[in-house]
Amino acid sequence: MQPLYLNHRSLALSTCALALVLMALALSLPPIAIFTARPADYLSVHILLEMFAISVSLMIVTIAWNTPDHDAEPIAQTLVFGFASVAGLDMLHTLYFAGMPGLVVDGSTNTAIFFWLSSRAVEVAVLCLAALSLRLPGSRNAWLIAGIVLVAALFLIATQRPQWLPLSYIPGSGLTPLKNTCELILCVANLGLALWFFLRSRKTQSSRDLWLGAACFITAMGGLAFTQYRTTSEFINLFGHIYKVAAYCFFYLAAFQIAVRKPYRLLEVREQRIREQETELHNLLSNLPVGIARLDEHLHLRYANPTLIRSQDRRPESVIGQTIGDLLLDDVAEQIRPHLIKALDGIRSDLDLQYLRPDGNSAYASCLVVPERQVSGREAGVLAIFTDTSEREHNRRQLIDSLREIAEIKAALDAHAIVAITDARGVITQVNDKFCAISQYARSELVGRTHKMINSGHHPREFFQDLWRTISHGEVWSGEVCNRAKDGSLYWVQSTIMPFIGKDGLPEQYIAIRADITKRKRIEEAAQRMALHDALTGLANRRLMSERLIRALHNSQRHNQHGALLLMDLDHFKEINDTLGHPIGDQLLKEVAVRLQGTLRQSDTVARLGGDEFVVIIEELGNSQESAMHHASDTGEKIRQVLSAPYQLHDHMAQITPSIGVVLFDGTLQNADELIKRADMALYKAKDAGRDQLCFFDNALQSEINQRALLQRDLRLALEQDELRLFYQSVVDADEQILGFEALLRWQNPQRGLVSTAQFIPLAEESGLIIPIGQWVLATACRQLAEWQHDPMRQVWTIAVNISARQLSQADFVQQVLQVLASSGAPANRLRLEITESMLQHDLTVTIGKMQALRQVGVRFSLDDFGTGYSSMSYLKHMPLDQLKIDKSFVDEILTDNTDSAIAHTVVTLAQNLGLEVVAEGVEQREQLELLIAIGCRAFQGYLFGKPEPITRT
Ligand code: C2E
Ligand code: CA
Ligand code: CA
Repeated sequence: MQPLYLNHRSLALSTCALALVLMALALSLPPIAIFTARPADYLSVHILLEMFAISVSLMIVTIAWNTPDHDAEPIAQTLVFGFASVAGLDMLHTLYFAGMPGLVVDGSTNTAIFFWLSSRAVEVAVLCLAALSLRLPGSRNAWLIAGIVLVAALFLIATQRPQWLPLSYIPGSGLTPLKNTCELILCVANLGLALWFFLRSRKTQSSRDLWLGAACFITAMGGLAFTQYRTTSEFINLFGHIYKVAAYCFFYLAAFQIAVRKPYRLLEVREQRIREQETELHNLLSNLPVGIARLDEHLHLRYANPTLIRSQDRRPESVIGQTIGDLLLDDVAEQIRPHLIKALDGIRSDLDLQYLRPDGNSAYASCLVVPERQVSGREAGVLAIFTDTSEREHNRRQLIDSLREIAEIKAALDAHAIVAITDARGVITQVNDKFCAISQYARSELVGRTHKMINSGHHPREFFQDLWRTISHGEVWSGEVCNRAKDGSLYWVQSTIMPFIGKDGLPEQYIAIRADITKRKRIEEAAQRMALHDALTGLANRRLMSERLIRALHNSQRHNQHGALLLMDLDHFKEINDTLGHPIGDQLLKEVAVRLQGTLRQSDTVARLGGDEFVVIIEELGNSQESAMHHASDTGEKIRQVLSAPYQLHDHMAQITPSIGVVLFDGTLQNADELIKRADMALYKAKDAGRDQLCFFDNALQSEINQRALLQRDLRLALEQDELRLFYQSVVDADEQILGFEALLRWQNPQRGLVSTAQFIPLAEESGLIIPIGQWVLATACRQLAEWQHDPMRQVWTIAVNISARQLSQADFVQQVLQVLASSGAPANRLRLEITESMLQHDLTVTIGKMQALRQVGVRFSLDDFGTGYSSMSYLKHMPLDQLKIDKSFVDEILTDNTDSAIAHTVVTLAQNLGLEVVAEGVEQREQLELLIAIGCRAFQGYLFGKPEPITRT
């Protein structure tokens, strides 16, 4: 609660209490006559008291009349009407007071009371309207006139028709009950109003309601005094009038509150609000990012906001009255001045400023210059609004610069570079024309696919793994890449791939910029080829050969593999050059190169050292020196034969032979030069020995090779000259009854005698002679079987024929066997074919197919030398086998070696489980037989039962 209100409330309430107490006191006194000596004095006192009340009433009318219109008191009209009437009626009351001269008629107490009660009634009515805050319709003038009319009407009634007035006073007897009743009603009404105003004051906190409440209360108290007197000159009557004066003091306060205090308060509030708005405006102008200047008609500053002052680095004490040049930088002032002058003529302008800041940086601003008009419409000055556009302008200029740069880069790229953009997964999203041109793919074929499309296969997988690792980590990758165009041709690009990192820190796009370096690569390749290859034949030159040889020596050591170096020279090549000319000689050399490359494996190196000297490096010849030697000699022999075939050189036919020097290497010798020297020595040996031949560097090897060559020649002849024989070794059961025979080959040579199988069978295998020989064996054995068919005792015997790997791998092997069976008339179910485990290593399914085809006609299969090879149990299960032959090596030691007997036992059990027969080979002793019988073996072969022997016809 406001302290002022609290003060007023205690004043009002204490006044009311005092009024109550005093009135109670006064009423309890007996009637006191006053002014008895000079009764006319009372009239004057009455006039004074009433005059006070009347002036207050008139003041209230004046105040209500002048209340400002805009926030007009709702009760202004009521007050004007009410208090104008009250003033008039109270004036008439005074005029007609007993003892007064009166007007038109003489004054009388009854007439005075009529005006009094009328006045009080109007007063109560006005206060009721005020209490309800009811606004009367119509203007104040009308209500003033209404008040005057009311007073005039009552005046006329009182003067012209006095008999109409109610009887309120009877001289001598005093007040009538009517008068008292009226006074009491007024008193009650005033008390009610007082209560109403007090209650309202608690809500509104308004002093006015307090004053009104107090006025009503005092009026009510005063009214009680006017019910008691018998003559008007009694003290109680005077006391009642004093109450009226007191009540009017409060009415005055209330009216003052309404008309003066309140408007002033409003004015104060409004001023306060204006001050606040001004501060706000000032803050706003200070903080606005725009500079504002107001200038008068002489272009002197009226105002400049702090933003503008700050922006100009001038910091003047006060800008008011200064010229624009005092505030703005010279540069800016210069640019803006003409526009300010134009603005004085009513022309607004909008201009862009560019100037140098004191710190030397260039700055930009836009400025709006508008004329400020007075209310009269005349130009009163200029308003200039500055916006700092430096940042925007700098950004714009930067953007323009970078756009230009991008455009330049793009133009450069489009002109020279092959560009592709892919997404994070490498799927192409954009390509430029150059990309399409070089790859020969249309853009539509490329977009949505990956670069795999143009992968040439030139680079190993790791190459691209490294590339992806780099770019997916957000780094730039660059390198040379070989790609394949749509037509299959290769092209090279220098490639730079840049990742574009997204918001999550991972690459979201890749841009690949490539330059075509195919031409350069071709030149490089050509240069490299020239450096490492022989220009005439395109073969490796001496340098490349040396490199390859060093590498071959290294590999040979690492993988424990033999290799061979063959150095060759064309015999009498000089003669061809001399007789047919160099071009023909060159052509011959080229043809030699072609034939060499055609003869050798891709992995072998063929080089031309110069002239008619060629080198061949053969690697991976296995870890046995013997087989390496055989292979090298066979290859050399093949080369010799191929090169010795006639040459068609233009119109000439020519023939030439090579001499070949061979040296083997196995990693023990690491010096390439030494090796070449040795090959050279071997070559000289070959030349010395009459040319057209192959010589090994190693003498021992050489003689072995020579012997082998002779043996091979003789073996070839053996077939033609019928030197081969077939011996048969019996296979018996536990009772030593013959079950059949194994056919074993023998070579009976007139010079060499009986050649051991260990000597000639491997040679036959290596040279391929085993094929015709094998066929001969099969045919001979089948003839034997057919022969036995006529003998009831022998027709159940079987013959087992050993089949070599090379035979079995022949595509038409099955046909060969079927044909032999058919032509000989041998029963297929008496023929057994023995194969070894080593044959089952290649093309197992094909081998099984062949075996199954033959089994269908009754041919049976034995697995020879079981236990010595790669016995994998899994294939045993799948092979269409009928028999296992326990190798002689296990049988040899079966009596002495526990392991061997265990193996033999296991093999027998295994065979039984797989439903296979078992034959024990190489049984020489009876104890061996007995042991084998004991472990479950049922068929036997060995010297104990008979050596391989020719069949004697009976
Ligand atoms: P193989 O198939 O294991 O033949 C058994 C070899 O053991 C035969 O040697 C035979 O004479 C010998 N032998 C048999 N019982 C005894 C014995 O109690 N004690 C001793 N010490 N040896 C015994 P052979 O005839 O010298 O044949 C050697 C190998 O030559 C054969 O081994 C076979 O792999 C191969 N062979 C023989 N004839 C042919 C044939 O016509 N074609 C093919 N491809 N290879 C054949
Ligand atoms: Ca055999
Ligand atoms: Ca065997």
